[in-house]
Amino acid sequence: MTMGTHILVSEIFHSIQGESSFAGWPCAFIRLAGCGHGCRHCDTAYAEEEGILMPIEEAVRQALSFGAPCVEVTGGEPLRQPGVYPLLKALCDGSPHVLLETGGFLPVDRVDPRVLSIIDIKPPSSGVAEDNCIENIPIAQRTPGKFEFKFVLASRADYLWAKSFITVHGMAGTCTIIFGAVFGELDPRYLAEWILEDRLPVRMQLQLHKYIWKPDTRGV
Ligand code: SF4
Repeated sequence: MTMGTHILVSEIFHSIQGESSFAGWPCAFIRLAGCGHGCRHCDTAYAEEEGILMPIEEAVRQALSFGAPCVEVTGGEPLRQPGVYPLLKALCDGSPHVLLETGGFLPVDRVDPRVLSIIDIKPPSSGVAEDNCIENIPIAQRTPGKFEFKFVLASRADYLWAKSFITVHGMAGTCTIIFGAVFGELDPRYLAEWILEDRLPVRMQLQLHKYIWKPDTRGV
């Protein structure tokens, strides 16, 4: 584990934001190393490999050097490293739009309030749905506009589970909710039709970067 002045980085790169209300914008990414959750659909298992220990200011310098309209910290699971909090704060001091993508297993209550946190809710097909951090829902409801919940679904069963989840947790109308399809597993057309049939107040989204580049391309 890292000290609060350094972070373990898997990669820093410049790409198109793929999965949030910022989808489509050029974005600088800092991918932090390490996670350990082993979700079935993980597309960044390489971030489990050992990263490079870097001073926070150096990661900030590299990310801001792209001059992108937004900057995102992702993983791996970025919230595992104590250095993520000063990293996010330093990025907010240098960029007007800072995003965090987290797997949704850890609380987001210590994240700088200027950050837009995009929190996964893992469905049953991920194999880790029982680890979702439910406490993040009331945190998001208290601060509208600063959190988005992302469900990436692989099947009709996942969809029905997610539909029930947003009802049970009172999320409709109180949280920004994104439904997406696992690339290559669920035809987005079906997901679109189910959302429309059920009149769900969710925003549908594709994993944009996987349509632009080959789905297994790193650093995008
Ligand atoms: S939380 Fe994210 S990085 Fe970690 S195993 Fe799951 S999908 Fe992969």
